[in-house]
Amino acid sequence: MMAMRYARQIPLVGKEGQQRLRSSLVAIVGLGGIGSPLALYLAGAGVNLRLIDGDMVSLSNLHRQILYSEGDIGLPKALVAEKEIRRRNSEIFVEGLPFKLKKENIGHLLRGVDLVLDATDNFTTRYLINEFCVKNKIPFIYAAIHGFYFAATFIIPGETPCLRCIFPNAKDEGNIPVVGTTPAQVSSIAATEAIKYLSGMEPSLKGVLLVGDLVSMEFNKIEVKRNPNCPVCRSLGSPQS
Ligand SMILES: [Zn+2]
Repeated sequence: MMAMRYARQIPLVGKEGQQRLRSSLVAIVGLGGIGSPLALYLAGAGVNLRLIDGDMVSLSNLHRQILYSEGDIGLPKALVAEKEIRRRNSEIFVEGLPFKLKKENIGHLLRGVDLVLDATDNFTTRYLINEFCVKNKIPFIYAAIHGFYFAATFIIPGETPCLRCIFPNAKDEGNIPVVGTTPAQVSSIAATEAIKYLSGMEPSLKGVLLVGDLVSMEFNKIEVKRNPNCPVCRSLGSPQS
């Protein structure tokens, strides 16, 4: 059964890699434009999922949040997402948790996961995830969009820069404009990095911020460095020491 479902993927990740994917638990925080395709692709690859979002589906979500339909408007995204994902892969474990991630519940919501996918839309939540992941040495992937632009990086606490090293004091802008294909693009990149990492391959975005401009179709890799005085990750020491 497993061999059949993943027959086109196993030649790339190997049988052992596929078993690793099947035994991995990933938290996706944010089930919007980025989280929707992320959940679909990771579920398709055989990854067990914890889907976290406290919002309800609204009409203005539908142009990019491809997990949801018109009939889902007003329903909690996490519960619709869980149902939609289960319909597509009944073999994996999936749970939808309809809560906004906060300081008070992050320890509970992210407990026991192998990897966190940051698909949120604000730095308040991102910085919270960053602090939790650094403290508990959980790897996480940052993926974000703005209009036709996206950015992504793979963070391994103690090894790569953390989110605070890269963005020391980022501010949120509120509702930003976006075309549906920008989150599709970055979510595909983040899902690929997750599949590579979880199956035992080397991710490509460690210490690298990939920025994409879908107007000019230019993609650039920017090397990012750890800040030795970073208030969040300096206690982990430098990777060389
Ligand atoms: Zn840092």
